[in-house]
Amino acid sequence: MILKYENEILDEENAGGHFYHVCQGVVQEKGLPIPSAEEPYECPDCGIDLEQEDFLLAQQRGWS
Ligand SMILES: [Zn+2]
Repeated sequence: MILKYENEILDEENAGGHFYHVCQGVVQEKGLPIPSAEEPYECPDCGIDLEQEDFLLAQQRGWS
C-alpha cells in the first residue's frame, strides 16, 4: 500500500476526501493533492513515484 484515501463525508466544503501517502508503512499526516498525469509526485523519503492513476485507484477503493 502506497496511498490511502479518506472520504470526508462531514466536510461539505472539501467534498472529495483526502489522500495520504503511506511511506514505508507509516501513513503521513499531510494530505496530498492529485498530481498531474505528466508529473507524478515523487516522495523524497522513500523515492516512490505516486502517479495520478494511483490516486484515482485509491479514490475508488480506499487505498492503492
Ligand atoms: Zn514515501
